[in-house]
Amino acid sequence: MYCNYCGKAVQDDANVCAYCGTRVGAVLARKRLIRPRAGRKIAGVCAGFAEYFDLDITLVRVVWLISVFLGVGLSLIAYVVAWIVMPDEPVALPTAAPAGQHATNP
Ligand SMILES: [Zn+2]
Repeated sequence: MYCNYCGKAVQDDANVCAYCGTRVGAVLARKRLIRPRAGRKIAGVCAGFAEYFDLDITLVRVVWLISVFLGVGLSLIAYVVAWIVMPDEPVALPTAAPAGQHATNP
């Protein structure tokens, strides 16, 4: 598996990343508030909250848009803050099968 913080490969049974010291085992098991790469419209903040709270992503967007109009820009600031704070979903790296085994190209 890979460290969510520094992206380096760590042992599958490791609890702490050997490179940066970030906890990796427990963090992976826990549900994390991240911005998924799939299904995002702007930055994936709404998609991340929808995934985290098991809500419909459209519902999250509607509620957020309404709050933008009611909150006079406060929600926009909150969105940007969430954009900065929430980490991107880690890129799906081929851990099981090494790249190059897929003989799709002749
Ligand atoms: Zn690390």
